[in-house]
Amino acid sequence: MLRRTKIVATIGPASEDETTLREMIRAGMNVARIGLAHGTVDEGIERFRRIRAVAEDEGVRVGILVDLPGPKVRAAKFAEHGADIATGSTLELRVGQDASNESVIEVDYEGLLHDLEVGDQLTIGDGGAVLKITDISSEKLLVTAIHGGRLQGRPGVHLPSQRLRMATPTPSDFVALDAFVELGVDMVAVSFVRSAHDIRRVGTEPHPRGPLVIAKIETRAAVENLPGIIEAAGAIMVARGDLGNECSLEDLPHLQKEIIKDCIAGGRPVITATQMLESMLTSPAPTRAEASDVANAVFDGSSAVMLSGETAIGSDPANVIRTMSRIATRADEAMDYESWAKQLAELRMTDNSGGAASVTDAMTMAAWRATQELEIDRVICISGSGFTVRSMARFRPEATILGFSINESTVQQLTLSWGTIPMRITKGGSNEEMVREAIRLAKDAGHIRAGELVSVLAGSDSRSRSTNVLRIERVP
Ligand code: PEP
Repeated sequence: MLRRTKIVATIGPASEDETTLREMIRAGMNVARIGLAHGTVDEGIERFRRIRAVAEDEGVRVGILVDLPGPKVRAAKFAEHGADIATGSTLELRVGQDASNESVIEVDYEGLLHDLEVGDQLTIGDGGAVLKITDISSEKLLVTAIHGGRLQGRPGVHLPSQRLRMATPTPSDFVALDAFVELGVDMVAVSFVRSAHDIRRVGTEPHPRGPLVIAKIETRAAVENLPGIIEAAGAIMVARGDLGNECSLEDLPHLQKEIIKDCIAGGRPVITATQMLESMLTSPAPTRAEASDVANAVFDGSSAVMLSGETAIGSDPANVIRTMSRIATRADEAMDYESWAKQLAELRMTDNSGGAASVTDAMTMAAWRATQELEIDRVICISGSGFTVRSMARFRPEATILGFSINESTVQQLTLSWGTIPMRITKGGSNEEMVREAIRLAKDAGHIRAGELVSVLAGSDSRSRSTNVLRIERVP
């Protein structure tokens, strides 16, 4: 069985060279993530160009996602081997960017002394150390470590998001966004989103002309405003690192499940992210708990699972991808497809207004039913913006979706879609001509064989705004 759940891998110093990128693509990376929280825009652009070149050379479609850091607050660098913060110890936090140690941590947020209150808790690193503010003066915050931990590099400092005065995207996010839109980036992730308004502020052209905008759910406000954010965004990321700082850890697995379910019902791809195979930063094999985490993210319905430090700074990025791919493929095999689709049918249509989107939604439901009844292995979707493909993927069908588009950006954006093989169709024409061409391309690529039945979803003609034709064809 082909793996249905996609893999997003972060590119960093350990993976930016051509050889490693090639190995990662061969290992199964579907989307490469360039995180701008570490490194400059110019370094990101260099990585972008290299990924595009290697993917083209390999003849494999790899989407590129640029992750805007948003109002990410960081501590100044710790000395080479880091610092151990003892539970119960008292420390100072000051505004600065020079250096941090076990007694003074410098933080690059100007509002540090004004925006926070005594009693607030800060987390440094993804769960590294939890500090409680005991006193605030004009020069420093005094904090007590309620959980100690080891801090290394330039860890992120999580301030309660309701205290942060900075808007997302930030001015520097917009500078980076312009540069990557100019290069034709496929997807852009927005950090610390609090409402649909933050997504609308991105202001790029709607996808597929502009990038697919991914809202990272990592604040309490985003969880509260989830329906509007799902509506406004092209896709969602369950950013468990920061979300785990904003909500109780015991709530996190449940939030993950709820967010994923709402995204599927809304026809939005959803990525489960952070610490999935964390021990593989240094180890050649994951822990049992990590293997279960990846499999459970698949069972929850994730469209994609993500690797962060594991591939950006880990000891063997390609091995991590191979491992994740094996676990996800095995979990895909065991997934209960039938009950998924039934659950969805009871949920809601993405839109039941009778407009173009609702016609497409109804047609994908019919296609799922016919494909299931006839035990068809492949559904061909011919889509302009990718909406039909994403609407079909909502059902998590047992059949593989062949997502065709004449639009190159759509095809690239479909690299994130669950169970979808993205394919480019180059010839336009009538419904009949497009269907013939898609079948020919799928057959040439070895995805379908002469004599088998396939379902085909398409628009009746180039003017139809919705997918309004479902055909069951025997491959010639
Ligand atoms: C996260 O917080 O889980 C996340 C994915 O965001 P980042 O890695 O940018 O902190």
